[in-house]
Amino acid sequence: MIEQRAKVETKVERRPGSETSPGHRVLEYLGIMAFAILAALIGAEMYAGASSFGYLWLLPVLAVLAYLGADLLSGFVHFLADNFGSYETPVIGPGFIDAFREHHVDPKGITTHDFVDTNGNNSLVAVPAMLLVWLAVPVASTVWGYLFGTFFLFLCLATFLTNQFHKWAHMESPPAIPAWLQRRGVILSAEHHDIHHESPYDTYYCITAGFWNPLLDKTRFFERTERLIRRVVPGTDPQLRAEREGALNDRA
Ligand SMILES: [Zn+2]
Ligand SMILES: [Zn+2]
Repeated sequence: MIEQRAKVETKVERRPGSETSPGHRVLEYLGIMAFAILAALIGAEMYAGASSFGYLWLLPVLAVLAYLGADLLSGFVHFLADNFGSYETPVIGPGFIDAFREHHVDPKGITTHDFVDTNGNNSLVAVPAMLLVWLAVPVASTVWGYLFGTFFLFLCLATFLTNQFHKWAHMESPPAIPAWLQRRGVILSAEHHDIHHESPYDTYYCITAGFWNPLLDKTRFFERTERLIRRVVPGTDPQLRAEREGALNDRA
């Protein structure tokens, strides 16, 4: 399916003045700070849970599951942001959806982003769920809470790292350790991610490591999901984005 991909001109256009606004940058700073504080708070609960319940042998298993989960989650959030809404969408339009669309127009732009620009949005996405878990899940006092909280914390940490991995995949010469991890397929590599950056940008959405991409592409998971969402959600265009852009005509 990838080989048969039709290359069409992208209809995405750069929006003038679409750099991160000062207001959104403050929000990104706060998001990273809140992420760090909540990660420490949940981590402390997890430590207390580990002292009470043990199960230390399960931690690497939960870490691997969380890493796989983060990869899948990155694909789903990326899929939604690439296909639905616009710059005009309230709240998440200007700072979030726009960043995904802009990235197709200027893929190398991400390599110039500093730590806050790179990691702010993912922190903001994670913080509400982290707050909920910290408030509502008894991580330190029940076994299920401890195991779930541990999985969840690993999931958040992998989510936090995702856009950093994505940035490294766009760099000509990433630092030595990330380059080594890319070559072994542990984190997203440039060759793998290049497939997403072929217009119409409708596959290979996962950007933590990309483990799920071949399977999701083969089963046309996102194409089916997009069709379903467009059918059931009022206000969305019933035609697939790629169909509107004429990109599915030459595909198998
Ligand atoms: Zn994209
Ligand atoms: Zn990219």
